[in-house]
Amino acid sequence: MSSGVIETDALIIGAGPVGLFQAFQLGLLEIRCHVVDALPRAGGQCVQLYGDKPIYDIPGLPRTTGRDLADSLLQQVAPFDPSFHFGEQVAGLQRQSDDRFEVWAAGGTRWLAKTVFIAAGVGAFVPKRLAIAGIEPLEGSRLFYHPEALESFSGQQVVVNGGDDAAVQTALALLPIARRVTLLHRRDVFQAEDHILAEMRSQVASNKLDLLIGQPNAFDGTQLQVTTPDGGSAPLPIDALIACLGISPRLGPVADWGLALERKQLAVDTEKFQTSEPGIFAVGDINTYPGKKKLIVCGFHEATLAAWAAAALVFPGKAIPLQYTTTSTRLHQLLGVAH
Ligand SMILES: Cc1cc2nc3c(=O)[nH]c(=O)nc-3n(C[C@H](O)[C@H](O)[C@H](O)COP(=O)(O)OP(=O)(O)OC[C@H]3O[C@@H](n4cnc5c(N)ncnc54)[C@H](O)[C@@H]3O)c2cc1C
Repeated sequence: MSSGVIETDALIIGAGPVGLFQAFQLGLLEIRCHVVDALPRAGGQCVQLYGDKPIYDIPGLPRTTGRDLADSLLQQVAPFDPSFHFGEQVAGLQRQSDDRFEVWAAGGTRWLAKTVFIAAGVGAFVPKRLAIAGIEPLEGSRLFYHPEALESFSGQQVVVNGGDDAAVQTALALLPIARRVTLLHRRDVFQAEDHILAEMRSQVASNKLDLLIGQPNAFDGTQLQVTTPDGGSAPLPIDALIACLGISPRLGPVADWGLALERKQLAVDTEKFQTSEPGIFAVGDINTYPGKKKLIVCGFHEATLAAWAAAALVFPGKAIPLQYTTTSTRLHQLLGVAH
């Protein structure tokens, strides 16, 4: 295979709770895997939608939170050292003549996998884009969506557009870094926690943070045009525009891979959780079968049986005995625990 293609036994699309547990179950069966997610971090809905909220129905954990569950799953899978590819949205998938699957991300990364596990939940979490014509080429140089690191805005004149927690927190976090920060929102109402709002109002009152109410309508990389509520237009000379308009799931490409769908879910059997394409499994919220419940515990069961089904493809003809993590010396070796 040409260089630049990552060869692997298994590729997991989605690092939500089910994708993470899928990697663990594959690890127990000695199947090495790569895990791809459009988000810059693991955890899927648990982290993105309810990170700090308590969950009470994870077996053996009377109470955890979305974020803590993701952290525990990452810790659990760590001995198997899966290769994570964050910030990459899988765009396409195609079976090759040798029965492996070529999978490619929008950014160009390509994998060649013997088995594929679609753990894509409710779709790829991607930032909502600004509806301003012709700004796409500025992305990454002058225009940024929900940036993870802010140091690169040092000394710059920055506008943060948005009205939720992420927007307000980003504007506040930039204060000691940027030369000047403007928080821009279409109305003077923000969806953020009280203490964050109080901090924002206090910074505005002490003239450290600018607050501008209006709608951005043109941006050429150096000048941002904002339409104000009175219909006026305010041009702002800036170095960078940061849009924090929310992150929402898009089913997107998964629906176009030629796999059988039922009401936008991937149809699977309940023995292997395999899709209509042998070798491609679907686990967690993305799949459907009679009696399906979109619960994490159901996804964990699906991932366990899908891993066993994949083992038969990765190690054809090899008898694979069921082993307990409690007693198996081999599993202890794999898990890196001494007994
Ligand atoms: C508010 C709320 C509370 C909930 N509370 C509970 C609860 O108490 N108990 C419970 O059991 N369940 C709960 N759920 C449901 C639970 O969160 C889901 O069942 C679970 O997250 C499904 O996990 P998953 O791994 O299948 O998918 P997700 O968590 O959706 O993760 C899928 C991941 O795949 C990525 N992805 C998708 N497409 C692509 C692509 N093309 N390329 C790259 N990456 C991609 C996404 O970015 C995402 O990170 C709750 C859900 C919500 C919204």
